[in-house]
Amino acid sequence: MQEFKEILTQLRAEGLYRALLQIDSEASATVRLQGRDVLVFCANNYLGLANDARLKKAATEAIEAWGSGAGAARLVSGNIGLYGAVEKKLAQCKGTAAALVFSTGYMANLGAIGAIVKKGDLILADRLNHASLVDACRLSDARFRVYRHRDTAQLEMLLQKRNAGQNVLIVSDGVFSMEGDIAPLPEILRLADYYDAQVYLDDAHATGVLGENGGGTAAHFGCSSARLIQMGTFSKALGGFGGFVAGTEDLIHLLINKARPFIYTTALPASVLASALAALELFQNDPSLIQQLWRNRAYFVQKISELGFDILGSETPIVPLLIGSPEKALLFSKQLLEKDILVSAIRPPTVPKGTARLRVTLMASHTKEQIDVLLHELECIGQRLKVI
Ligand SMILES: *Cc1c(COP(=O)(O)O)cnc(C)c1O
Repeated sequence: MQEFKEILTQLRAEGLYRALLQIDSEASATVRLQGRDVLVFCANNYLGLANDARLKKAATEAIEAWGSGAGAARLVSGNIGLYGAVEKKLAQCKGTAAALVFSTGYMANLGAIGAIVKKGDLILADRLNHASLVDACRLSDARFRVYRHRDTAQLEMLLQKRNAGQNVLIVSDGVFSMEGDIAPLPEILRLADYYDAQVYLDDAHATGVLGENGGGTAAHFGCSSARLIQMGTFSKALGGFGGFVAGTEDLIHLLINKARPFIYTTALPASVLASALAALELFQNDPSLIQQLWRNRAYFVQKISELGFDILGSETPIVPLLIGSPEKALLFSKQLLEKDILVSAIRPPTVPKGTARLRVTLMASHTKEQIDVLLHELECIGQRLKVI
């Protein structure tokens, strides 16, 4: 269709065109790209578990034992025993009574929020929430309003304005995926208590990253509440695939009965569940991987701040480097790739206009030498492009 071409031409002209890169190796700190070995500083594989031998072994053994596919949805004949083991471990990790696995984090958000709220309810959401949360809120039957990023004063104002007796769900990322900062969860929970609201927290980037044993944002702050619903994913620090929601027994039973992205999709393959279980056991028993991740993050942030980059208040291994225009961010990323370093440029609509950025993510498996290579190139290119 002619119209498709026009849309694509327009995207290119605005510096917003996106294209896929083919990777020809397993996911680790370096990958094979177009015949070259490149350093990866944009993966969500925080603990380097995506190609961990123990996870691979668990997945391989599960395929031998259970086959390659589950054959049906969980409510039909696909609910293999591994689900129970994973969900028990998840509840432990999150400090909740129960948990439920979804096929992806995206589907967990769509399914859970869609099931929790009904017509007439109110959702109050942080303006910088992840796209999957935005979609979930928009597609739900509730009214949907946003508050300024991490602005609990504005959140309180909106809570005061709710209709009498109206159910309210506060929705926030735990760690914000494009800023790398952390939601003010203790204050959000205090407001939820006072105004009798529930809180839905997306811990995709916090599980396995925050808290001594990787419990996430709530573990980081040492808070727990029956009002708190925690969502997460296996696809980031856990190095695998799949999503989950953790909360009360009643919540989980409600989701099993009402969440359409849970009901109407095929159960996950056993291999996926087995590697998730292996990952959960791994960092719960051994915090050294998480400690290494944070050491790498501290080293990088100290050096990058000395160079004069604006890291936008990052508090986690997600470290954005503010560039401004999408064209410049793209050019920066391209020049890094010419030096065999992969860092993606994040542009609108993923982030607000005028805040295009490079998004650097640190991993436990990066060596100091690899981080130094990145720092050196960031300095050279940053000066050439007048970012610093
Ligand atoms: C990645 C991500 C998701 C989606 O998780 P998947 O398991 O990859 O579908 C949801 N929320 C946030 C904040 C994310 O970063």
